[in-house]
Amino acid sequence: MLPTILVIEDNEINMDLVIFLLRSMDMVVLPALNGPAGLAMAKKLRPSIILCDIQMPELDGFAVLNALRGNAKFANIPVVALTALAMDGDRERMLAAGFDGYLSKPIDLEELQLEIRTQLASIASGLTYR
Ligand code: MN
Repeated sequence: MLPTILVIEDNEINMDLVIFLLRSMDMVVLPALNGPAGLAMAKKLRPSIILCDIQMPELDGFAVLNALRGNAKFANIPVVALTALAMDGDRERMLAAGFDGYLSKPIDLEELQLEIRTQLASIASGLTYR
């Protein structure tokens, strides 16, 4: 089965880019344009990996992460932060907040491929304990 990637991103231009890149990697993409829609899709469709924007109205990326981690059924899905805040220390801040990975925007194909490969490998090896 092809990996299914849920993308939660409120900017449609960024969303279109990420969808295009993931499809070029033979991934099935589930797009959600806000946090509540993303959470609903995560619960219904159980994606392999979630890519989640940080800055969103209603529920931001941290709130989405906390909602997933607070539910034992979804706590093991890797969640990768997508952020425009490309500042020193961002990666550490996102990992400390509980994200499994970090990608800064604009998303780069090679970095995205590496991150997806890393997350799929950690799922396959059973290293995603929480
Ligand atoms: Mn945003």
